[in-house]
Amino acid sequence: MKAAIVTEKQDLELGQIAEPELQQGGAVVKVSGCGLCGSDIVKLKQKIAKKEAVLGHEVVGHIHKIGQNQDFKTGDRVVLGHHVPCYECVFCKNQNYSMCRGFKATNIFPGGFCEYIFVSEKHLVNTVLKVPDNLPDEHASFTEPAACCLRAVKRAGVKADDVVLVIGLGSIGLIMGQILKYYGAKVIGCDLIDERIRIAKDLGFDAVYKYTNDPEISSLIKSNFQQEGADKVFLCSGSPKSLPLAMNSVRDGGTILVFASISPEEAGFANNGIYYRELTILGSYSPSPDDLKISLNLIEKNIIKVDNLFANYDLQDINQAISDTIANKIIKAFIKIF
Ligand SMILES: [Zn+2]
Ligand SMILES: [Zn+2]
Repeated sequence: MKAAIVTEKQDLELGQIAEPELQQGGAVVKVSGCGLCGSDIVKLKQKIAKKEAVLGHEVVGHIHKIGQNQDFKTGDRVVLGHHVPCYECVFCKNQNYSMCRGFKATNIFPGGFCEYIFVSEKHLVNTVLKVPDNLPDEHASFTEPAACCLRAVKRAGVKADDVVLVIGLGSIGLIMGQILKYYGAKVIGCDLIDERIRIAKDLGFDAVYKYTNDPEISSLIKSNFQQEGADKVFLCSGSPKSLPLAMNSVRDGGTILVFASISPEEAGFANNGIYYRELTILGSYSPSPDDLKISLNLIEKNIIKVDNLFANYDLQDINQAISDTIANKIIKAFIKIF
């Protein structure tokens, strides 16, 4: 079967690999398409992708082969989460599902950027969901990234009327803002790119500021929304400039939710700022199976709107999709397979 394979040089090359076999209790899914995630790009850029691996995890497809199963049959259109928690370890018992040591060990095989994948019985039970007929594949493929955002909003304890700043309006920031609105927050967006600012305004953000320098943005928040500053700041940008902007914009006693990988040399919050101002800094990484279900439902109901967030590419053009994403020419790529 066709697959985009990681090369020695950490780019992708179209090649042929063996089709995965159906194993006891699981299913083979024929991949219709797969979203290109920022984390796929980070792996290649940081040169940490395994040679010959197949990346991609935001999969939508059809059940192609399946044994005896109560819930699914051949032909069902599905989306899926790629990792399944064990529900038994200390991490799972504390709802840190994405920290479960079994979580990452339960991956789909080989990965979304190819024609067929194998999903285990555990996946079928916990993270494979049927896609409603009226929902396009591209929209359904946002189930996993939107579930990541949903979990972040829950972890930050966002309440109605909270003033929330979202720094970085890529696909994650734009989805985060919509979920924050759904939770009743007043949402302020901030980005450098005019097109993203326009989309955020269309999606109902209460205000969207073009990033200039941070004293200006934090004072706009204080004069236009709440004089003490934002109750919460969601960091959805990989730029190190986001850190001082987050610190200057959040109110004393507020929360900064980190949902971004920033290069380690430059990242870090000052200890005394956290201590004297009683700030809460927390990270959120990956969704739980329950978040996937709610996420798909919010996309189906058009509460999370994704129409303007993706561009389609064929599998053979995946390197173009990666470079267009890095160059900010598009917000997110959907790689069509079948
Ligand atoms: Zn992802
Ligand atoms: Zn566990």
